[in-house]
Amino acid sequence: MRIHLAKSAGFCFGVRKAITTALETAKTKKPVFMLGDIVHNEEVVKQIRDIGIKKINSLCRGKGKTLLIQAHGSPRRTLTQALKLGYQVIDATCPMVKEIHRIACNKESHGNQVIIIGDKKHDEVQGIVGQLKSRVLVIDRIQNVPLTKIKKIKKAGIVVQSTQNLENVLDILKLLRKYIPKLTFHNTICNPTKTKQNEVKTMPLKNTLMIIIGSKTSANTKRIYEISKSLNKNSYWVNSAREIKKVWFKKAKSVGITAGASTPESSIKAIIKKIKTITF
Ligand code: SF4
Repeated sequence: MRIHLAKSAGFCFGVRKAITTALETAKTKKPVFMLGDIVHNEEVVKQIRDIGIKKINSLCRGKGKTLLIQAHGSPRRTLTQALKLGYQVIDATCPMVKEIHRIACNKESHGNQVIIIGDKKHDEVQGIVGQLKSRVLVIDRIQNVPLTKIKKIKKAGIVVQSTQNLENVLDILKLLRKYIPKLTFHNTICNPTKTKQNEVKTMPLKNTLMIIIGSKTSANTKRIYEISKSLNKNSYWVNSAREIKKVWFKKAKSVGITAGASTPESSIKAIIKKIKTITF
């Protein structure tokens, strides 16, 4: 059985940069804290914890402490509050996410209703919402477009969560264009996501089986899995070698493997090793 590993499998540059920043920050003598997880992957979070960086749920007295901002960014008020409380803030926000912040603020300052196409509860979307003074509309899928509100908007600027599925975005955009007279659209899906999604549009058609590696909390892995599953029903989403089942490979001639942007190389290697053990 042949194994094809996607070129784009695993860490994107934003995650790599955030992890490097975390490792560097941990070398300083000050205690380091994170609000939430630095990236959405349990193994990476454990590694970060093991080097002494502690996860917290809310800010407290920050004198003598360092606060690390996660790769997905955070609301502006978090930074302001942290500085007020005395933390030294180290910002590991991905540059592509910062660019979304910049565009959204610019659109708002020019009198646009800002609309984000993305998942309301995701850290990245909350971070974008938290850059703006006015009320933002967040739309995750075409079924949830609030038409009554949309029909009242005269001028809108649209940005997209960096890991969204392009097809979903274009469907929503098509509907919004029908009702909003002045609309500017910024496709802020990041390049690593575009590359991953492009690869997963052909791999499931060329392989009998697809394995998608990543945490169940990772939004971009979920999207890759959904695309793969829609093209090849023999698509499986796993986070560790333990989840691999021999029965999946019974009739498989080739397996395509890809992994989300926050999946470490060690997970990918362990899964390939397990597949080789049970199939060769
Ligand atoms: S997925 Fe894109 S936006 Fe998110 S950290 Fe990676 S490069 Fe940055």
